[in-house]
Amino acid sequence: MEERAEKFLIVGAGPCGLGVAKALKEAGIAYDQAEADTDVGGNWYHGVYETAHIISSRKTTEYADFPMPADYPDFPSRKQMSDYYKLYADTFGLRENIEFETKVVMCRPRAADDRWEVEFAGGAQRLYKGVIVCNGHHWDRRFPEYEGAFTGEWLHSKDYRNPDQIAGKRVLVIGGGNSACDVVSEAARVGAEAHLSLRRGYWFLPKTLFGRPSAESWAMHLPVFLQRMILKTMLRVVVGRYEDYGLPHPDHKLFEHHPTVSSEILHYLKHGRIKPHRDIRRFDGKTVEFVDGERIEVDAIVCATGFFVSFPFLPENLVPVENGNIAKVYAGCVLADYKNIYVFGTQQVRYGVGPLITPAARLLAKIIKLQDAMELPIGLVMKESGARLPDTHLVDPIASLRRMRLADRTLPLLLRREKKLRRKFAAARPPAPSPALRPDPEMRVY
Ligand SMILES: Cc1cc2nc3c(=O)[nH]c(=O)nc-3n(C[C@H](O)[C@H](O)[C@H](O)COP(=O)(O)OP(=O)(O)OC[C@H]3O[C@@H](n4cnc5c(N)ncnc54)[C@H](O)[C@@H]3O)c2cc1C
Repeated sequence: MEERAEKFLIVGAGPCGLGVAKALKEAGIAYDQAEADTDVGGNWYHGVYETAHIISSRKTTEYADFPMPADYPDFPSRKQMSDYYKLYADTFGLRENIEFETKVVMCRPRAADDRWEVEFAGGAQRLYKGVIVCNGHHWDRRFPEYEGAFTGEWLHSKDYRNPDQIAGKRVLVIGGGNSACDVVSEAARVGAEAHLSLRRGYWFLPKTLFGRPSAESWAMHLPVFLQRMILKTMLRVVVGRYEDYGLPHPDHKLFEHHPTVSSEILHYLKHGRIKPHRDIRRFDGKTVEFVDGERIEVDAIVCATGFFVSFPFLPENLVPVENGNIAKVYAGCVLADYKNIYVFGTQQVRYGVGPLITPAARLLAKIIKLQDAMELPIGLVMKESGARLPDTHLVDPIASLRRMRLADRTLPLLLRREKKLRRKFAAARPPAPSPALRPDPEMRVY
């Protein structure tokens, strides 16, 4: 096994991995970076359909320390986003540490010294000081299950690449999120028929309000209950009742789920190009039966039904994940049971991700340095200091920025807390068990 025991390994060079790499470089923390693909940019390089434009906005998606080019529109295309991340990597000299086409297949904690054994596709093995997981959360496809068998084309929105796949076809899209709206609107343009199946009611927000991206509304700085009140009033004026579009009324409060931002869906519903339907009951060949008994025949079904948060290269349950999408980590990145493993960017930011990456990555660099001064895992110290695990995968960007600013000031206090905890644990420590009774060191370090 090759020794790189003074370095960290960043897994992934998408938007999050790049932001973390820059912060580590600035903080003087030695690292390597492994990227499975051939270039940087993650989803914007390889993972979204060719016609995608961001649904957040340029200003709410660019890194806090690297504005997008001035000639970019409010909603850049996939290509522009991909170019932007390449430019970021080049500008800050991040490529020199990245090994492309290098997939991490296993990271294991080594009980003896808190270091991490890493294995790559191809068999190479290295020993690292620690691992920073930035593998993204929009790739592990979540499919719905129904009775019967569908004999047409059945694909996930992740596998939808370009309009040729659906041109001239009768298409049914399942889901009410952002990808569902994009794909069903594309089907309305190029398909023979476009159908949308919704299990429940959603809040569909227009992409712009008062000529500006909805995500940039001044209202986003207000408390959520006020945002709700203001946005609901605006929606009543701009959109009207969802029932007038044939859509069910939302079954949840605005912002309780990730909001769907699409102006096209309402446009095509009113043109009769998209036909809304209830949840699916069963399939029979190419026939789809909905729960209200309605039946239609389609050629292709696109499941825009979301993703699981998962870490296939970590031992099972090392990072607990609730409901398939809430990674149970303290401060958005650390575990109570293990040192030197950091999980970054698993939460879904309402609107754009960029402005949070920069401060969060800088905070992560501080946490890494603070961990060096501690014996106990910093996650355990946070837990014992009353930090709570997340109960949602959604992040309010403004509240999150506020919490990060506070954490920046209070983080050093954890050092004193850790010393006290060590004394407390030492006083309470029972005599060492006989070797036969000792727990498996691979499973739990602390
Ligand atoms: C259709 C669609 C539209 C979206 N629109 C928006 C939007 O408008 N605004 C917004 O902010 N976000 C949007 N997103 C979310 C988008 O995923 C994030 O903006 C961003 O890509 C997250 O960055 P990331 O680095 O966490 O993950 P990713 O972009 O997924 O990057 C992860 C990287 O890790 C690499 N990797 C994974 N596993 C391994 C491994 N084992 N070994 C080595 N490398 C590995 C991958 O190859 C990839 O390059 C959208 C997502 C989708 C699917």
